[in-house]
Amino acid sequence: EGRLAGKTILITAAAQGIGRASALACATEGARVIATDINQPLLDQLAGEHAGIEAVRLDVRDSEAVQALAQRTPALDALFNCAGMVANGSVLDCTEADWDLSFDLNVKSMFRMTRAFMPAMLEKARTQACSVSVINMASMASSIKGFANRCAYGATKAAVIGLTKSLAADYVKQGLRANALCPGTVDTPSLRGRIAAAADPVQAEIDFIARQPMGRLASVDDITPMVVFLASDESRFVTGQTLLVDGGVTI
Ligand code: NAD
Repeated sequence: EGRLAGKTILITAAAQGIGRASALACATEGARVIATDINQPLLDQLAGEHAGIEAVRLDVRDSEAVQALAQRTPALDALFNCAGMVANGSVLDCTEADWDLSFDLNVKSMFRMTRAFMPAMLEKARTQACSVSVINMASMASSIKGFANRCAYGATKAAVIGLTKSLAADYVKQGLRANALCPGTVDTPSLRGRIAAAADPVQAEIDFIARQPMGRLASVDDITPMVVFLASDESRFVTGQTLLVDGGVTI
């Protein structure tokens, strides 16, 4: 049993960070989790940690691979589009290549995934009279708040919120809910990479912590309860929202 018993959820970028922790949290609540990423070794390790987790390699930038996986996957109850990257820099530092890669990985991947997996989800909602859920990873750095050196990133995450709200509006009468998750600064491998790459890594960590009014970084387990909630029927009346889990940054 569990809060997600009987549900199937697919998570992108599940090999590390928030995606990985979400896979474990959802499996612990009884879901069947299809954990996808491009990092097969880390995915296999994850699948070894819980019998409810299946590891499937998926590059969310590859439309054909996304379509092919959707064809061979049973209808999902929840889709968590977690994949995304941070391109550092202001508008003058951001190259066209960074801009294009950011939009492809952070936004167009969600368009691809949703188009591929949603028809079966809508059919499930219709035939089983249940609610299905799309959870899109945005950020507090988006249309919600501006941050230095997050030009492409903030633009992509604002686009994620727009995409999510349009999905919610289009399918609210068909049992599909769509919400955007907006974390604060979360201690993940990629954040550690950004800290290590800074000119002064010690100061960079101090600065990341300083922008969090609660005085600490979020752990991935501060974020996963919101994922479980949005995937579960507990959130059945919640759609089109930006759910901030930011330790008070946007108070
Ligand atoms: P992370 O950045 O440490 O890991 C990202 C994962 O994405 C890796 O496992 C990587 O292999 C995978 N990945 C990269 N390219 C891929 C592709 N083409 N197809 C499939 N998978 C791919 O994880 P994180 O820091 O938890 O970030 C996850 C999401 O959360 C991102 O969308 C990020 O923008 C968002 N987010 C993170 C923070 C934070 O502070 N860490 C805050 C707000 C939002």
